[in-house]
Amino acid sequence: MTQLWDFSGGIHPPEHKDISTSRPIRNAGVPDYLVLPLQQHIGDPAEAIVEVGEQVLKGQKLADVKTGMGVPVHAPTSGVIESVADFPVPHPSGMADRCITLKPDGEDQWCQRNPVKDYRSLERDQVLHIIRDAGISGMGGAGFPTNIKLRPPRDRKVSTLILNGAECEPYITADDMTMREKADEVVAGLKIMAWILRPERCVIGIEDNKPEAIAALRKATEGTQTEIAVVPTKYPSGGEKQLIQILTGMEVPSGGIPADIGVMCQNIGTAVAVAQAVLEGTPLISRVVTITGEAVREPGNFEALIGTPIEHLLEQAGVNQDAVSRLVLGGPMMGYTLTTEAVPVIKTTNCVIAATAAELPAPPPEQPCIRCGQCAEACPMELLPQQLFWHAKATEFEKAEHLNLFDCIECGACSYVCPSSIPLVQYYRFAKGEIRAQQAEQLKADRARERFEARQARLEREQQEKELRRKERAKAAADAAAKKQAEAEKAADEGEAVDERAAKSALVEQALARKKAKAEASQPPAASAQPAPSAPPAEQKPDIEALEKQLSQAQSKLDTMQGMLDDAKAQQADNVEKLERAVAKNHDRVQRAEEALSEAREKLAASSAESQPTH
Ligand code: SF4
Ligand code: SF4
Repeated sequence: MTQLWDFSGGIHPPEHKDISTSRPIRNAGVPDYLVLPLQQHIGDPAEAIVEVGEQVLKGQKLADVKTGMGVPVHAPTSGVIESVADFPVPHPSGMADRCITLKPDGEDQWCQRNPVKDYRSLERDQVLHIIRDAGISGMGGAGFPTNIKLRPPRDRKVSTLILNGAECEPYITADDMTMREKADEVVAGLKIMAWILRPERCVIGIEDNKPEAIAALRKATEGTQTEIAVVPTKYPSGGEKQLIQILTGMEVPSGGIPADIGVMCQNIGTAVAVAQAVLEGTPLISRVVTITGEAVREPGNFEALIGTPIEHLLEQAGVNQDAVSRLVLGGPMMGYTLTTEAVPVIKTTNCVIAATAAELPAPPPEQPCIRCGQCAEACPMELLPQQLFWHAKATEFEKAEHLNLFDCIECGACSYVCPSSIPLVQYYRFAKGEIRAQQAEQLKADRARERFEARQARLEREQQEKELRRKERAKAAADAAAKKQAEAEKAADEGEAVDERAAKSALVEQALARKKAKAEASQPPAASAQPAPSAPPAEQKPDIEALEKQLSQAQSKLDTMQGMLDDAKAQQADNVEKLERAVAKNHDRVQRAEEALSEAREKLAASSAESQPTH
């Protein structure tokens, strides 16, 4: 026997469930057209991957989410794509959104399916991929992608897996009938999810007003360790946080998720969809929808293709249009009034109430709050609905947030008990919507600021890199100039040395020549070649060749230095002055060499003239 806890608050509204449980689930058939919204889940909308006019098969993927969170949308039957356009979708605002319209061809021809009977032979990631590819998102709440939910953060081990069969809201019996008629599939889906998560405990929580479902599931779980926990009927025991508290005694922390306390809750319909996806290879293309209310003659549950217009289901249930006063999508507590019957069944559609005026009369006019406190007593989240109402009405959203507005599950229990008929939940929805819009605006502004700052940082970085490159270039130029200068100085020094060596060499050569001449002069004259005794001693002749070489070298050096000076001036280098001095020095050197050569030539010419015989 499973130990149970209670949650605070809660109410006991009339159930009206037996209206729709007297008949088995009926097949709603194929309507004239199917409207498939691209956004049926939390996350990013899917993108159409088919063209208008394209023939598609049943189960074929029509739209997918390429990046981000989301699941694909499939063709519920074979047919032709008629349009991809805006169409009214189920939403409290009555808004239109992007939808694929499919015209059935009556063939109902399946695409290739790939059932996996022995899923345990696959990797867990592969099974999660199958679940994702089958387009499964939560079928009992906001439509969170199931494959993502089944992959909790690594640091949060799921020790308890709960299948939520409470279905506490009046009128709705889709899960009840599913458990009665598809108990084996429910349990098969639970087993697959348990295999993925490896929890220590699996529990199916069912309210005690569903004895047939309880019996069916007890039978289906015979021999397994899955617990069937029968919980007292009290609204909203089917709320995720409330059921967790009932079955575990633990509370999900404010702003947290069940995985924070090691628990995960899945819906009955979701379990069936998981079983069909894995074991049959069938994507999520239909679901059970309760069509009820006193304005339909044959209320009950229908297996309806996703995309089936509500008006088609109402016809199947024998709607008496004259009797319909209000059409409610969902239950009377958390649902909303439909503005058109043209909206389609989507993955989260569980009930439509075609209510007569007597059944769901228009709410009486709102009266001032009398501070009776009944709303606080009824609140299952232990909030302060009265104060939340004041702040929401006064648009004091920050104060409402401080009172944990976002913990409100919008169960409507407070509105239900309010003697002043204040539509409290509507105020909370308004406040939440405004806060989300402000947050979205803030996020937009933050992103714009971040983009601006990133751009500024990029420009600064580019500027710094540019400056660095400029400095490197300048340094390289300075280094090259310094090197050139050093080379020039070295060359100047070497040039000087060469000149000096050349001069010394010339002098040595001259000295040797003199010595040789002297030695020759001291030799006794040969008989045949004796000079005349009156002839003066031979005077040393200047070495013209050596002096010409010296001049040529000095001239060459001067040219080199002049070229370097011109370059340095063009580059405005630091060594211009030094080079100018070197050039001047080399000029002097050239001049001296020219003078020496000229003098030597004159001397040579004079000595030649003297040695000429006179006639
Ligand atoms: S139940 Fe209604 S009247 Fe009473 S305190 Fe709450 S809001 Fe005010
Ligand atoms: S709608 Fe919100 S405030 Fe009202 S009872 Fe439910 S949880 Fe509490």
